[in-house]
Amino acid sequence: MATQMFIGGTWTDGMAKQTQRVTSPATGEPLGEVPISTAADIDAAVKAAKKAQRELDAMTVFERSALCHRVAELLESRVDELARELALEQGKPFATEAREEIHHSAGNFRLHAEEGIRLDTEVMPSETRGKLLFTLRKPIGIYALITPWNFPLLIPAELAAPALVTGNAVILKPSEFTPLIAARLVEICEQAGFPPGSVNLVYGARETGEALVTHPGVTGIAFVGSAATGEAIVRAAGLKRTMIEASGNGPQIVLEDADIDAAASAAVRGAAFTAGQVCVATERVLVQRKVHEQFVERLLEEARNVVLGNPLDPKTTMGPLNNEPTAAKMDRHLSDSLKKGGKLLLGGERASGFPTKLYYPMTVVDSVGTDQLLFREESFGPVLPITTFASDDEAIALANDSDLGLQAAVFTSSLKRAFRYVHEIRAGNLQINESTCYFEGRPPFGGAAGTKSGWGRIQIQDFTDLRTISIDYEHARN
Ligand code: NAD
Repeated sequence: MATQMFIGGTWTDGMAKQTQRVTSPATGEPLGEVPISTAADIDAAVKAAKKAQRELDAMTVFERSALCHRVAELLESRVDELARELALEQGKPFATEAREEIHHSAGNFRLHAEEGIRLDTEVMPSETRGKLLFTLRKPIGIYALITPWNFPLLIPAELAAPALVTGNAVILKPSEFTPLIAARLVEICEQAGFPPGSVNLVYGARETGEALVTHPGVTGIAFVGSAATGEAIVRAAGLKRTMIEASGNGPQIVLEDADIDAAASAAVRGAAFTAGQVCVATERVLVQRKVHEQFVERLLEEARNVVLGNPLDPKTTMGPLNNEPTAAKMDRHLSDSLKKGGKLLLGGERASGFPTKLYYPMTVVDSVGTDQLLFREESFGPVLPITTFASDDEAIALANDSDLGLQAAVFTSSLKRAFRYVHEIRAGNLQINESTCYFEGRPPFGGAAGTKSGWGRIQIQDFTDLRTISIDYEHARN
């Protein structure tokens, strides 16, 4: 299947001289081919977006909201078909995850359709007689949406919905590993009736992303991806509006007074969901020494229940990794750990007998020290590295011993202890007695200040430009 760019309401090969093949991580089979966008294509997309943006800005928010509701309905009407494509391109299980991602994407459009019409602004008292002060929220203008491959439909939806309902035009550049399912979202926005040029689609990897970020016509960049890329984007973007949602290295902390069964099952869920390729995955497990043995026993029981397999098989609860660089990173982190004293309790190498080499079994490693890559860096795979601690002070120090601070979880039956962690853990989002991978679309979500997990909270306000207006009604002539 050849999929084209979408520029100014037309599906086109643009000025592309090269194409890129997309291969299924599950079967190894080719799924399609996309053209790689050139600088001229980016120019054309910006031009089309500029025209459409004026039209979007002139519409009422109620009109834009109705279009977002329509996108949600269209997504819901194609759940099984889209989920199958997503499972084959990304690798996540059809039954337990891919269908849910389509529903959540629709839910995001519905949520922002509602949020948009309730985005009130303020009227403020003035220091001067006869003046009225108020604020207005205007669109940022043209938003480049640069997205990763782990939630290749949901993340474009999470960014496009608030951007469009607030009157921005968007140019989506999906990950080079998963461009096909993103094209489906664009197709649906077109069917929903967004004016031509409101939603544009370009393809490619770093170079295409850089061309978008530095294009003078692009006024905002919403980026979800790795911390290293986020930092490069911020440097290149200068003073442009950026929203950076980057990497995580989330710890799950298990205190001696915790419900150990709940903690064990949450940890496995946090590492098996999307095969650990989630920014809020359980990347580290910190366990109080007193309950270490009991916890590990339960953890292994839970981990053995994870069924690795073809994402289309209904028995599968965990699919393959999406791409070779991610699998190679798992190999590297595990061999580093074993060299430095990590004790392998389960899994540990790529599984054989599958159509690709991307199938990694659930892996558990004990005695993980702070010098190991498993502890220091985001592994982005189905691995649970266990580190023990003696006191709350030590647990907090270990949790904060990372330059990333996206999400963390604490298991305890003491409210007093829980609140100490709430105040002292440096993470944008903290779960008490819940897995690190717990996520809802409505609350603000993002990294903590002082970390490399990014800034901005993927909330509707961040897609608008707050303007302050004063009116001198004493001097108006009529
Ligand atoms: P990545 O940074 O490699 O790529 C993300 C996107 O940026 C891709 O579309 C890529 O082509 C593009 N890109 C690469 N270099 C660029 C450059 N110099 N300028 C502009 N664009 C560029 O990340 P990935 O491997 O696709 O995704 C995995 C990462 O995403 C993980 O670190 C994960 O934690 C993070 N993530 C974060 C969140 C969040 O909400 N915080 C959500 C999902 C994933």
